[in-house]
Amino acid sequence: MAQLFVISAPSGTGKTSLIQKVLDEGLASKAKLGVSCTTREKRKNEEEGVAYFFVNEAEFNKKIDEGNFLEYAKVFGNLYGTPRDWVESTISQGFDVILELDVQGAIQVKNTYPDAKTIFIIPPSYEDLRNRLDNRGQDSEKTIEKRLSEAKEEVLSGKDFDYLLTNDDFDLAFMDLKYAMYSNSDINKEREAFTRKCLSHLLDQ
Ligand code: 5GP
Repeated sequence: MAQLFVISAPSGTGKTSLIQKVLDEGLASKAKLGVSCTTREKRKNEEEGVAYFFVNEAEFNKKIDEGNFLEYAKVFGNLYGTPRDWVESTISQGFDVILELDVQGAIQVKNTYPDAKTIFIIPPSYEDLRNRLDNRGQDSEKTIEKRLSEAKEEVLSGKDFDYLLTNDDFDLAFMDLKYAMYSNSDINKEREAFTRKCLSHLLDQ
């Protein structure tokens, strides 16, 4: 039975690299990564139709009116939506689907598909997240501050997802993600306790 996975994380937590590894390892030979529509500007290294279809706001609103989205949300001032037809047809062809969404989108998908597995990735601490955002060199100080305060909001929503894992170390986090997605056995107890500790630290700040 094909499965639907929804993976969210605060910006800079490393979810895209972790998901890419799931796809590269052939772990998910049966899985396809969703391609969203967005009104955000295309970045230099991006190609139309790979991670996103780039549309203007009028086109996006038309798709909303026509009921084309399984979910949509405004994230960092831009609109993002998941094409409903693509998800439904991919699942009915027997492929697992991985959606990389913000927390608002993940909650909407879970409401429509209660069997979807929602996975939330946390940073080990906000200091670590700040270092990653600094090292990425993509954002201004003002944007980094904004992303950090949004991260706090996201952690509040993401803490109730089906699976929580921490990206403190890429290989360990990848193992946890594999467990969350494809193992029927429990996630490593030690890692689970570590994630609980990190979460409680994040919630205290
Ligand atoms: P970026 O613009 O950096 O690629 O993505 C910004 C945020 O939007 C990320 O958290 C990403 O997971 C989220 N996102 C990407 N596509 C969608 C979508 O179709 N729906 C929702 N709700 N969020 C999305």
